[in-house]
Amino acid sequence: MYATSYHRASSVEDAVRLRARNEEGRYLSGGMTLISTMKQRLAAPSDLIDLRHIPALRGISIDGRKVTIGAATPHADVAASRELRALCPAICELAGHIGDPHVRHMGTIGGSIANNDPAADYPAAVLGLGATVATDRRSIAADAFFTGLFEIALEEGEMVTAVTFEAPEKAGYAKFNNPASRFAMTGVFVAKTASGVRVAVTGAGSDGVFRHAGFEQALASNWSADALNGVSVDASRLLSDLHANAEYRANLVKVMAKRAVAAAG
Ligand SMILES: Cc1cc2nc3c(=O)[nH]c(=O)nc-3n(C[C@H](O)[C@H](O)[C@H](O)COP(=O)(O)OP(=O)(O)OC[C@H]3O[C@@H](n4cnc5c(N)ncnc54)[C@H](O)[C@@H]3O)c2cc1C
Repeated sequence: MYATSYHRASSVEDAVRLRARNEEGRYLSGGMTLISTMKQRLAAPSDLIDLRHIPALRGISIDGRKVTIGAATPHADVAASRELRALCPAICELAGHIGDPHVRHMGTIGGSIANNDPAADYPAAVLGLGATVATDRRSIAADAFFTGLFEIALEEGEMVTAVTFEAPEKAGYAKFNNPASRFAMTGVFVAKTASGVRVAVTGAGSDGVFRHAGFEQALASNWSADALNGVSVDASRLLSDLHANAEYRANLVKVMAKRAVAAAG
């Protein structure tokens, strides 16, 4: 690991100021990706600006059906929130099946979506729920936030502060996980929201998380797993790697979508 300077930020403003002062600096949230990348000498930030001790970035707040999850909220807190489970059990289930207990107690929703690993779970929930990503300077719709593999719409030094969404009428998530890491080889999040049905697929797309228009149309006219029987999944847009080829993933996308609808009820 290369030498780096550690800063414990006390507020969002403090963190943004520290980041602006250090061009080669990086925000540190759970460190589950960033620290291991640094240990492998694949990243060498001059400064680490720790967001975990900023009270405004942690916790879940609920106002009617509007849910706000602070960027530095660990997966374990999302999984354990009774108030959130009463409104949207699918996101609690998703968080409860990320990695292992250590990863769930350290890793955060903000770090997960800022990293936008193509096999991560949260991007499917954020896109599937039609959530809004709040940053220190603006709000970004989920449809515009995820722009490619490990790519997002943030500008230099911009920080995710929260994820907000309206609780859906129904939602479900199913993933076929890599048995070692538990990352999604394919994961599908389905939601019936006030603005229509949304289906987001992670772990499978060659450009990262994506929505499946064919599934959305089929479920909008008939919310049932059987409605997906006749809908095809185009393998040419899917990943092939040592875990699974594109054709195998195309089959998984449909199987996981059906399971997600069944889980949503
Ligand atoms: C063994 C293992 C298993 C895992 N399994 C899964 C799994 O099954 N499913 C899954 O989805 N994930 C999995 N993960 C990933 C994990 O859940 C974390 O979400 C992920 O590592 C990043 O979150 P973090 O909070 O640790 O971010 P960090 O590692 O601290 O940061 C990641 C990146 O995001 C940037 N960043 C962090 N916070 C912000 C912010 N608020 N604003 C802007 N940029 C920010 C950092 O600068 C860095 O570039 C696994 C990780 C490990 C190590």
